[in-house]
Amino acid sequence: MAGTSESEKRFRFVVVGGGIAGVTCAEQLALQFPSEDIALLTAAPLVKTVTNFRQVSKTLQDFSVEEQPASILEEKYPNLKVIHSAVKGLHAKQHVLQTENRQVFHYEKLCLCSGARPKLLIPDNPNVLGIRDTDSAQEFQKHLSKAKRMVVVGNGGIALELVYEVEGCEVIWAIKDKAIGNTFFDAGAAQFLIPSLEADKPEKALPCKRTRYTTASKDGSGELGSALGPDWHEGISLRGTEEVSHRVHVEYECEIKTIYSQQDFMKSPLHTQETDLGLWPVYAHLTNGKTFGCDFIVSATGVVPNTEPFLHGNNFELADDRGLKVNEHMLTSVPDVYAAGDVCTAGWEPSALWQQMRLWTQARQMGWYAARCIVADVLEEPIELDFCFELFSHITKFFNYKVVLLGKFNAQGLGSNHELLVRCTKGHEYVKVVLSGGRMMGAILIGETDLEETFENLILNQMDLSSYGEELLNPNIDIEDYFD
Ligand code: FAD
Repeated sequence: MAGTSESEKRFRFVVVGGGIAGVTCAEQLALQFPSEDIALLTAAPLVKTVTNFRQVSKTLQDFSVEEQPASILEEKYPNLKVIHSAVKGLHAKQHVLQTENRQVFHYEKLCLCSGARPKLLIPDNPNVLGIRDTDSAQEFQKHLSKAKRMVVVGNGGIALELVYEVEGCEVIWAIKDKAIGNTFFDAGAAQFLIPSLEADKPEKALPCKRTRYTTASKDGSGELGSALGPDWHEGISLRGTEEVSHRVHVEYECEIKTIYSQQDFMKSPLHTQETDLGLWPVYAHLTNGKTFGCDFIVSATGVVPNTEPFLHGNNFELADDRGLKVNEHMLTSVPDVYAAGDVCTAGWEPSALWQQMRLWTQARQMGWYAARCIVADVLEEPIELDFCFELFSHITKFFNYKVVLLGKFNAQGLGSNHELLVRCTKGHEYVKVVLSGGRMMGAILIGETDLEETFENLILNQMDLSSYGEELLNPNIDIEDYFD
């Protein structure tokens, strides 16, 4: 690096974002170009690093994530410089970035990994919370510790975990679908999981080998932190003021129509119609006509990519979900600007068995692959789309069950051209296989099924399974031996 003045610096490679995508990308670049200096610009004081990485099968990956001070990363990679300052502007034609603390960075190749933030039902309402990073999780905990009832809106992974983990507080869960968790599951899997919500939580959750956050980043600056991942709730008490374990009431097929503060509610016609709702800090009026008073509302209705600082004056092509559209080399529509993780949207023709989901695993894979693409570009070498984009695979935990999702696990995009095979043992396991034209296209495995490797192989090799029919899920057949 050759500094041209105190506030102006030149790096051949600059990565923006200290989440999993940005850190993975910066680490790879640092390894590939040991004689170049790489800058990682990030808004949050801590960075996310992947630890205990384990390749479970060909495509399934499991790892832990730790939030660490930037110095740990810099010690590991002497050519990596972490700069704690949010980027506020990009002049892509000049290859220049500006940060909030008035620094200017010149780059040759840039990778944007600024993540996404929760879609909030209404911004700046102290009684409507989103959960994204350590700070917002702590804010949530603060509200919960004084709460008797909350309303949760949304049906994705965060909402699922939340309603299960929270104790001592009544939860009204408003979902727009016919079944819980439909981002990940079908109605059958939802039915399998529902009893866990109705039962008391086990005294002590089974040991969980996933992430734990040891460091908090509370500096009150309102900075954009990294997104949390699995077990974001580990180490923080998710308890309200009541004695109950779970008390979850699901309102299906509805959304929030209006949110009222206590004052506004008292003045509204609803107050005269619904006199027995009690006195609450906030009220949620749902599209199904029902109204619930509560201590606070959690908005878990998905995320919006953090693109704003980069858009002004540049010609980025955005996808329908507002992500930066990237091609099969993770390159945006702007020359020399790559993107990875939650901020980007895959713009290439995906494999028949893969879809983008804004998940941790994909943030890591994209960050790693973006770095490889930058290397190939600089060295003028060809590069093919990485194998990890061949098959969607995700391993996680919901309601204390191991959950493995493979391929088109919910028959996404298959229309009516598919059949399902299901095996379910209440409280033990739920196995669903999606077949199309006799070939396995996807699977959901809940519980300790031990089927992930075999099914992954059957999906990848697209073997014609028509002749096996329902035998495929016969519990008395050792399927692994069968296909060996
Ligand atoms: P992020 O981790 O969001 O990192 C973005 C980085 O960019 C941050 O360091 C931020 O400070 C920085 N940044 C933002 N703007 C700027 C700027 N202008 N200038 C400089 N830096 C900037 N995924 C799973 O796979 N499994 C789960 O169980 C799971 N659970 C989740 C639970 C919660 C509560 C949440 C919120 C998310 C969960 N996810 C889960 C999703 C997962 O956390 C994200 O997909 C993943 O972290 C995205 O990584 P990223 O690096 O793209 O973005």
